[in-house]
Amino acid sequence: MNEGSENALAGELLAVTRALKAHRLNVGTSGNTSVRCGDGFLITPSGLLPERAVDMVWMGMDGACVGELAPSSEWRIHRDIYASVSGAGAIVHAHPPFATALACQRVDIPPFHYMIALFGGSSVRCAAYATFGTEALSKNVLAALAGRNACLLANHGMVAYGRDPAHALAQSIELEALCEQYWRACQPEPPVLLSEEEMADAMERFRHYGARKFGL
Ligand code: 13P
Ligand code: ZN
Repeated sequence: MNEGSENALAGELLAVTRALKAHRLNVGTSGNTSVRCGDGFLITPSGLLPERAVDMVWMGMDGACVGELAPSSEWRIHRDIYASVSGAGAIVHAHPPFATALACQRVDIPPFHYMIALFGGSSVRCAAYATFGTEALSKNVLAALAGRNACLLANHGMVAYGRDPAHALAQSIELEALCEQYWRACQPEPPVLLSEEEMADAMERFRHYGARKFGL
């Protein structure tokens, strides 16, 4: 891997890290991202504030690092996914609001919507709890990922991987959207519905609402 290609991958990784914040999937220094690079991977440094452009850390599959900065505390999750899934080209770990809220309930997301299939099966599992940054958490994540490309992390957040950084980001955004839909679909009472008459009144009012006529 030449320096130009490595710099390009580092740039893609920083862009995805910033996009996670822009989409509100991460706040502050939460979460981390990585991309396969040569016979190792580039990973965000620990405590990265995405708005500050910083160097990424290159790590080999033996956990040895190149560079001044310490790698993300979750490097084991990233290393272990790359070691066990050849198709994983980039990984996102985030603490998005709805995925994390469901992860605190420690539930698997069931097949409530056909888009769950995007993650490789009929559910997105929730990995058992372990302290962040530990080998135990990485083991739990790998178990929850069996046959899947995403999972929740109990009382913590989510992990998703993809072909490349843009794909891993897209998968993360889809997962958070599904988590929000599932959360809302689980609300205990259905809403009060409007009657046909009330809807007809509203539709009549819409005929004169705003600049464009309703139905056009
Ligand atoms: P790092 O800043 O070390 O990547 O940790 C953030 C995080 O989300 C830990 O789970
Ligand atoms: Zn985390």
